[in-house]
Amino acid sequence: MSQSRKCVQCDAAIVGRSDKRYCSDSCRHLANNAVKQQNRHERRILQVNAALRKNRSILKQLSPQGKTTIPRQYLELAALTSAT
Ligand SMILES: [Zn+2]
Repeated sequence: MSQSRKCVQCDAAIVGRSDKRYCSDSCRHLANNAVKQQNRHERRILQVNAALRKNRSILKQLSPQGKTTIPRQYLELAALTSAT
């Protein structure tokens, strides 16, 4: 039983080993780079979310009512002393 297999990246027919997923090294590199790019993007989103969470925590500590002006020096000091 021979089932034609297709490249995960470009849908071209695959010739070779039965566990081969890509038609060429080029397609394999493209697919792996896309995964790496997605991982970088997801990591960056996590970093931004962590920074926003930290900033909101600092603002809540310094301004519980949320309706005041906080001098920049206080914010910078709080950012240095708060845990990440
Ligand atoms: Zn391919």
